Amino acid sequence: MRGKKILITGGTGQVARPVAEALAIDNEVWCLGRFGDPHARKALQELGVHTAVWDMATDDLEGLSRDFTHVLHSAVHRGDGRDFEETARVNAVGTARLMTHCSAAESFLYVSSGVVYNRADRTHRYRESDPLGGAAPWLPTYPIAKITAEGVVRGLAEALELPTVTARLNIAYGPYGHGGVPMILFNQMRAGQPCAVPREGQNYCNLLHTDDVVRQVPLLWDAARVPARLVNWGGDEEVGITDLLEYMSALTGVPVQLDRGDYSRETAVFDHGVRRGLIGDCSVGWRAGIARTLADLFEEYRDRIDAYMDARGAGTAK
Ligand code: NDP
Repeated sequence: MRGKKILITGGTGQVARPVAEALAIDNEVWCLGRFGDPHARKALQELGVHTAVWDMATDDLEGLSRDFTHVLHSAVHRGDGRDFEETARVNAVGTARLMTHCSAAESFLYVSSGVVYNRADRTHRYRESDPLGGAAPWLPTYPIAKITAEGVVRGLAEALELPTVTARLNIAYGPYGHGGVPMILFNQMRAGQPCAVPREGQNYCNLLHTDDVVRQVPLLWDAARVPARLVNWGGDEEVGITDLLEYMSALTGVPVQLDRGDYSRETAVFDHGVRRGLIGDCSVGWRAGIARTLADLFEEYRDRIDAYMDARGAGTAK
């Protein structure tokens, strides 16, 4: 993709930051956010990304030009777990302001989440038409944030005739920000803390490496249309969280303590039919992707990871 004028929210986040950095090479990229972390803002600017302060809870977009060709809306206010009204308002209003401001764009991509599904069954492959109403005991306001914004996106896509795609992301990971859920779990392992897993069986997810996120964003923009298109967005493989923990332990030598109890953070696997039809397969396998991410983020384990991968003919981790 080249020569486009691209607006990105959530550009300091784990998902959108690598996209902003990659697209800034051949396009004019603008990132909006509060930039509580000034280092992230500076780093983006040094790569040629333009930045502007915008708090979607309070600010309109006056003063910002309207001639963006592509919009990636990745910012989220996940809420504090208690105030559902404020969580719904911030995500709905921020999304509405953005879509209205950029109504002349060629394509609008909203990053939603698999957390919207009513995830009653650990083994079910969730389809885009499945029941909504997901509960997230770890942050109850989060599903409401996403469901509310999805509604706004759906409505304004048609009202404004703005070609739109909503992508429900599974679990993204890679060497940006906190590294995603796998790296959060690995940090728990390093701290000697137990990792909660189900009493029986395990939770499954579709890990998506940020290299695939970066590659697939322009493909998703191409898939935008009116009425808005909806697509599950996850990695091809179904990865057991317990398998993931044990694999990270084998790669690094850091022991894992499994806490088999009544509560573990639930995850879900997707049916990939719609995504495969629109943008094809992923390119990064989860085992190689996790090894590379660990080696990037935790230098002290790099030699050991390389040796592990070499011994299995999988090449070096980096
Ligand atoms: P992060 O938590 O890493 O980043 C959140 C981003 O939102 C930051 O860039 C932050 O920017 C921005 N933001 C938060 N509040 C506001 C606000 N009031 N005004 C403007 N910007 C705000 O998020 P991720 O990168 O992990 O997630 C990106 C998107 O993907 C989200 O929509 C999330 O729901 C979705 N998703 C992510 C998954 C994952 O595995 N990471 C899984 C499923 C869905 P700043 O602080 O500078 O304002």
